Amino acid sequence: MHCDCFGRRPAETVVASFRQVGAQLFYAVAILLIPPRKGHTMLGISDPTVGGGNTGADTLDRPVEAEPEAVTTNGNGAAAEAGTRAPATGFEGTESITAPPLPIRPVPPIIVRKRLVRGRYRSASEGWLLTLRVDVDGHRPTRRISGDFFTVSGSTTAYFGSFAVHSPTVTTTATQVRVEGLGTFTWAAGAPKIRLTIARASLFEPPKPGTLEFLTTSNTAGASYYCPFESGFFRTVSYEQDSVAGAVPFLAYNTGSLPQPDGSPARVLSVPGAFAEAGIELLTTGGTNVIPVSDAGANAKWSDAELHAAMVNHFSAFTNAPRWQVWMLVATSHDGGYRGIMFDYGDAFQRQGAAVFHDAIGGTDAATQRSQLRTYVHELGHAFNLLHSWQKNLANPPAPLGPNGGLGDLSWMNYDWKYQQSASGPGGAAAYWAAFPFEFTENELAHLRHGFYRNVVMGANAFGTGAADVDPDLFDEPLVDNSGLALELRSPKPGFAYGEPVVVELKLAGTELRGRATHGYLHPNDDLVSIAVQQPSGRTVLYRPMLRHCVDEDRAVQVGVDKPALYESAYIGFGADGFLFEAPGTYRLRATYIAGDGSRVLSPVLRVRVRPPASRADEAAAELLLGDEQGQLLALLGSDASQLGKGVSAIDTLLDTFPDHPLAVYGRLVKGVNQQRDFKELTGDKTLRIREANGIEAASLLGQVAEASIADEDGVDNVTLNLAMRTQAKAEAKSGHPDQARDVLRQLVRTFENKNLNPLVLEGIRQQARETLDAIEGEIEE
Ligand SMILES: [Zn+2]
Repeated sequence: MHCDCFGRRPAETVVASFRQVGAQLFYAVAILLIPPRKGHTMLGISDPTVGGGNTGADTLDRPVEAEPEAVTTNGNGAAAEAGTRAPATGFEGTESITAPPLPIRPVPPIIVRKRLVRGRYRSASEGWLLTLRVDVDGHRPTRRISGDFFTVSGSTTAYFGSFAVHSPTVTTTATQVRVEGLGTFTWAAGAPKIRLTIARASLFEPPKPGTLEFLTTSNTAGASYYCPFESGFFRTVSYEQDSVAGAVPFLAYNTGSLPQPDGSPARVLSVPGAFAEAGIELLTTGGTNVIPVSDAGANAKWSDAELHAAMVNHFSAFTNAPRWQVWMLVATSHDGGYRGIMFDYGDAFQRQGAAVFHDAIGGTDAATQRSQLRTYVHELGHAFNLLHSWQKNLANPPAPLGPNGGLGDLSWMNYDWKYQQSASGPGGAAAYWAAFPFEFTENELAHLRHGFYRNVVMGANAFGTGAADVDPDLFDEPLVDNSGLALELRSPKPGFAYGEPVVVELKLAGTELRGRATHGYLHPNDDLVSIAVQQPSGRTVLYRPMLRHCVDEDRAVQVGVDKPALYESAYIGFGADGFLFEAPGTYRLRATYIAGDGSRVLSPVLRVRVRPPASRADEAAAELLLGDEQGQLLALLGSDASQLGKGVSAIDTLLDTFPDHPLAVYGRLVKGVNQQRDFKELTGDKTLRIREANGIEAASLLGQVAEASIADEDGVDNVTLNLAMRTQAKAEAKSGHPDQARDVLRQLVRTFENKNLNPLVLEGIRQQARETLDAIEGEIEE
């Protein structure tokens, strides 16, 4: 639900025109003039800075459906039991991190010590609920205050808006702390100046409440809120972790086990502990489920489609609302070899779930435990909408990049192998661990603690960029380019039909004789390549994948020596923001590749044309592919998730109604690839079911894909055709037809020999065919 329902927009307009006058009287008149919208409860006041508030007399009971924070604690409850430290209760002048949790220990005699003024406060009045975060004291204070307003109507609570004071004046006397400054708001606040006063409590007393006052720019008093202390943590998130049997979940790592930087104290850090140091409480809920794998078969690898299905099943029990909760699945391994991924796509469940893969990160030695800690914290950091260190500038609003284009950040959100202090300075994993203090950066702390509600809470704004609009300047030509690398975007076809999945090819070449060392991650789902798309309307958006793969492993290559160039192909038609190429017209695409040394290598502009439909049949067939669920199925190459059932039916209708239409090939591809795999479904009640592959159907569908794509520019692009034919061969072998499998692979090589390809690309295809054949022969022998 949006706050527009409360007539906020008209109020803003009127208030803005009266703001110069600054008199509250005018505002009062203005709100009387705004008629309530039909069908909605109209609140008496549309701006919580100007009216409303309370002075302490009102009830402080929480409304039933309030979702400002998942669970209320006092900063000394469950989190302390879970082994994390409560940061609120430190002694004056000591860092909270070394402070004991409440309840208060026997107190040192004589000196009257004061409590830290820090943490979360809450005010509840007739129409408003306010969560206030005070961060001027204690461990790594960012010297900010921030808050979120919720409207309360009957037994419903809805988010209204957020504010922050980024550089306040803080005055501390013996008796009180006062924080004053101009706020930044998500709405046009009538009284934007903020004054917070909190009396200081001795260690023998509970923390004192604060009084938050709003003032107009001409210092007329606005609303005032009485805010009792709630928790030493700025935010509280429920954290549920499930693990697949055999995958041992990480518990804790002693940061002193291996050499660490001077000044970083040795301490035992769990995942909740690492967040507690940042002032964020992860409340472990529901224990840790271990999911039996008795019927999981030999294939313990998880595909993107299976992980996506597990996620939608897990969250199907919840309402589609932003909430402070996150789910971590500890699985065995990903079929792409990744360490971790984060689920992130268009509708309800953005940033609510992550997975880490035990086979890639498991182990009991100190170095492995250390990187497990980093991987877990890193993936959860994404759930809080933290971007990778080198991508902060792609956020909305953009955040500043750290040293060396962000690669110099000593953060959980950098990759250790990607760390590069400066272009010629120390870099790589050893340099990272020698300097990393097991902390988030200052900017990340400010986001975690004070980012506006929708930019942080799980399930609200999409990962990274709210509306995914990008500043086209980000993709401007660099003034100097000594990267030694050249990136090219290519279209596999001269144009795409209306509704046809858009695939692009990426090529990274060395421009120097001696070659250039870099990494081999070219797929935009791996987050080291970004593709900006300027749509026919002129709007520029970023392609953002549905699932983010965290490629926390160095895959170094010497481009220009080992290989003259690297190639990749990516389906970018559908991502976290839905379809990017829905409308007919000309699109301009540009990609950047973040090289090993931090260079940003920019591709020339590629123009891609989407043709308008030529007939009613073209239009009808395309629309059967353009649904949101069909987009997800195209990106995942099929799925068994019941939540995508409507998409599967639409694809069936496409194949039934338009079996000879050129777009039908994509329906067969999606169904064929999915039928070739044993599909693991992790249900909402945490049982693992396996649907076995149907090799005969898969082989038939993929055979039709190949047949339709043999001629150049017909059917699917070459990289997809290569994948389809190798999958077809596996399906034939699976259904007991090894001879047909060998035939398909021979046909595959012949097909590409007739396509006039670059000899190196052709050799790569021959190699893949040989590997597939070896795998098939291996399975036949077993
Ligand atoms: Zn990541």
